[in-house]
Amino acid sequence: MDIYVIIKRTFDTEEKIELADGQIQNEGANYIINPYDEYAIEEAITVRDKFGGEVTVVTVGTEEAEKELRTALAMGCDKAVLIDSEELEDQDQTTTTDILAKFFEDKSFDLIIAGNVSIDNGTGQIGPRLAENRHCSCCNHCQT
Ligand SMILES: Cc1cc2nc3c(=O)[nH]c(=O)nc-3n(C[C@H](O)[C@H](O)[C@H](O)COP(=O)(O)OP(=O)(O)OC[C@H]3O[C@@H](n4cnc5c(N)ncnc54)[C@H](O)[C@@H]3O)c2cc1C
Repeated sequence: MDIYVIIKRTFDTEEKIELADGQIQNEGANYIINPYDEYAIEEAITVRDKFGGEVTVVTVGTEEAEKELRTALAMGCDKAVLIDSEELEDQDQTTTTDILAKFFEDKSFDLIIAGNVSIDNGTGQIGPRLAENRHCSCCNHCQT
């Protein structure tokens, strides 16, 4: 099976977070794989170990996210992809989904797993939007 897991780099909410002017300060903050995405990775690995195939993790982010991708590889994933969004301004849920949908356009996949929600922005938008995105070639429903 070709299994993909989309993951997000987030603040570690168990660490102390510094605020200034109501904004989280990036400087010195500790980052982790979004915890719900870790569950998604574990599920993907379980499915792969049962049915065969490979697990690829994908993130839309900056090169700092390589650390979390390496963690995913250490957890047992086979491949990791960074889609660099460094140049992108005002990256919202629509642009993130569009970028992911474009990535999957020419990919063959059996399963894409997302976390249900990120622990920072926390809108729970990306998984359902990707599933419904018309660029997605996962099933006939999406192409109608
Ligand atoms: C105006 C505006 C500007 C923004 N500008 C930036 C910016 O410049 N840079 C930036 O990084 N963010 C930016 N953001 C935040 C970014 O849009 C969201 O964090 C992102 O779209 C995901 O939304 P979410 O955190 O609510 O994820 P949710 O929808 O809650 O996440 C659900 C699941 O989707 C998957 N997922 C979420 N994000 C990603 C990702 N990036 N890659 C792969 N899988 C993912 C994970 O599996 C996750 O568990 C901005 C947001 C807004 C509103």
